[in-house]
Order: sequence, then C-alpha cells, then structure tokens
Amino acid sequence: MDVLWSPWRYDYITAGSNAEISGCVFCDILNSSASDEERFILKRAEFNFVILNIYPYTSGHLMVVPYGHLDSIDKAEKAATDEMMDLVKAAQTAISDVYTPDGINLGMNLGKAAGAGVAGHYHMHLLPRWIGDVNFMTAIGQTRTIPETLAATYEKLKGRI
Ligand SMILES: [Zn+2]
Repeated sequence: MDVLWSPWRYDYITAGSNAEISGCVFCDILNSSASDEERFILKRAEFNFVILNIYPYTSGHLMVVPYGHLDSIDKAEKAATDEMMDLVKAAQTAISDVYTPDGINLGMNLGKAAGAGVAGHYHMHLLPRWIGDVNFMTAIGQTRTIPETLAATYEKLKGRI
C-alpha cells in the first residue's frame, strides 16, 4: 500500500503562480499569494499550520506542517512539536466528529526511504479509515475513489481545528 501517504505534486502549486519555487512544496504553499481557502489551509497556529492533502488517500486526509523547513522532527523546538501534537489532537476530534470513521491513521515519514513525499519538510498525516477500505483499495489497484471534493472537505472541517 505505497499510496498511503500520498506525495504532493508540484504542478498544483506551480500552475499559474508567480511565486518563486523553493524546491519544497510546503514552503512554496506558504509563500504563495493564494488565499488560505485556495490553498486548503484550515488553520494557522504559531509554529504549525493544518492543510488538506490535495491527493487524499481518503476524504478528510489532513496534514499538520511546521512553518520551519526542517527535515526531521528531532531538530524542532519543543514548543513547535508540542503545538503540533495539540493540533493533531484537535484534528483527530474534528475528523471524528465530521466523518465518524472506524479508525484514524496518524503518522510521519522521515526520509525518502520511509516514503516521505516531501522529504525536506517534516509533517504529520491524519486520515480517517473505515473497515474494509483497504480491501476495497487493494481490489481496485491504483485507483482511489474520493467521494467528495476538496472544497467540500474544506468546508466541513474549517473552523473545527
Ligand atoms: Zn519547506
């Protein structure tokens, strides 16, 4: 199941953008002049922001991302990682309330070998899971069925984290 933590693609952020490309999709998103809604940023805290994964594994697939461009969580200040976990907790509650999943995956891939799509900028994934969704996904191979648009997901989760 190598699609579990979907990588981001640069075409999303580079299309029609005049922003300088840093080589990191999260930094490029932060430097973009698009609105938070256009970027699917749900929440901005002091050290981290919460954003929808634009290639979600399931609807409600969120990421908590520090503003600081660091490739590993052990390089981060305690205040930043403490806040990240507070946001993870709030996001878990929001996902549970909105999607009533059977479970939630919570995880971080550090380094390309671990499957990081954006290896230079650590980030935490949260995604709701349902009993049977893996079997279904396996049965249909690479095709992902996303039952709602990102705009709909954004609308449902905005203001809850
Ligand atoms: Zn970055």
